[in-house]
Amino acid sequence: MNVHEYQAKELLKEHGIAVPDGHAALSVEEAVEAARKLPGPLYVVKAQIHAGGRGKGKFKELGEDAKGGVRLAKSVEEVEENAREMLGNTLVTIQTGDEGKQVNRLYVTDGVDIAKEYYFSLLVDRASGQVAMVVSTEGGMDIEAVAHDTPEKIHTITIDPAQGFMPHHGRAVAFGLGLSGDLNKQAQKLARQLYNAFMATDSEMLEINPLVETDDGKLLVLDAKMGFDGNALFRHPDIEEMRDETEEDPAEVEASEYDLAYIKLDGNIGCMVNGAGLAMATMDIIKLNGAFPANFLDVGGGATTEKVTAAFKIILKDPAVEGILVNIFGGIMRCDTIAEGIVVAAKEVELDVPLVVRLEGTNVEKGKEILANSGLPIVPADDLGDAARKIVAEVKQAA
Ligand code: ADP
Ligand code: MG
Repeated sequence: MNVHEYQAKELLKEHGIAVPDGHAALSVEEAVEAARKLPGPLYVVKAQIHAGGRGKGKFKELGEDAKGGVRLAKSVEEVEENAREMLGNTLVTIQTGDEGKQVNRLYVTDGVDIAKEYYFSLLVDRASGQVAMVVSTEGGMDIEAVAHDTPEKIHTITIDPAQGFMPHHGRAVAFGLGLSGDLNKQAQKLARQLYNAFMATDSEMLEINPLVETDDGKLLVLDAKMGFDGNALFRHPDIEEMRDETEEDPAEVEASEYDLAYIKLDGNIGCMVNGAGLAMATMDIIKLNGAFPANFLDVGGGATTEKVTAAFKIILKDPAVEGILVNIFGGIMRCDTIAEGIVVAAKEVELDVPLVVRLEGTNVEKGKEILANSGLPIVPADDLGDAARKIVAEVKQAA
């Protein structure tokens, strides 16, 4: 789960990390109110969307010459003008895709006099099983471009979570940022604080781009992006409350209400599977047969009629879906129960694309019989390979 910049900064502040003062605003009036609470004379009005690259972004509704999603304002009146122009409009950045994201929230914050911009991030490095700190002197810009063009300017420092943050990690960060004297000391302290915040919040990702050196020699977090491990959210009700569902894929939000693990993908074959491993194998075998899955969907151990119906509905809402492959192993749940669920669900959603079903496990013969007698055009399959070949052929034929 991701949060907005202003929420990430609130969390960092709770961990003793310095951030510029600021307030979130949902309306022009609130933006003005927020600006009045700040000392001025320089303000920054920032679009709050779950995507980076806002500064260089473009508003769809405004002309090419209009300013982007991060705007400097020199008075409360200018904050008001900018807020009016930004709220409700669609911001397109390198991370939003062409459709962009509607700006419904703003963050009005203190303007900072920047001497230099740096890059700092923390993430879980699956390859080493450690926490990686990534730093660079090239802050404020697209870090992927820096990694591509000048990889030598990116320094990665890994930390064994069992050992924790040691003084040498801090020194490596300060060295990677090319800092000396007091700034070097500040960087060591800040790296430790950010690591602690990352661990305490069960973060998956924490990115500060840019981390800035101010004109008066202070290191300051100017932008913040945080993502959290969904499986650990139950430990952080305060973070869970920050969830902004309007920023998430509506199908994924609906799926989470039914406790279904659903991730939208780019292909045209909808998949309904029980068990994450079986779901991965199903996606693989679809690809092996020359087609692409439209989604990953794990209905979990208890594939009830209610869940199967919800899953069908979510899959069918995706206009790219041209066929559905159901691949269910009846272990705890018996195949006849699952077959009944599929039939009820398929009738309820008025299925209009080919459906191939592969059932295996307890009472499989009974299950197959129920499907065959349902009067629905369900194509039965004997095994995983057979199922994949059949759905790919069905979709090709229908096209
Ligand atoms: P994004 O990464 O989405 O473009 P940032 O928050 O990084 O958004 O802002 C883009 C740029 O705007 C920063 O690199 C910085 O130069 C400038 N900026 C952002 N916030 C402030 C601020 N509070 N004061 C001065 N400049 C800022
Ligand atoms: Mg940024």
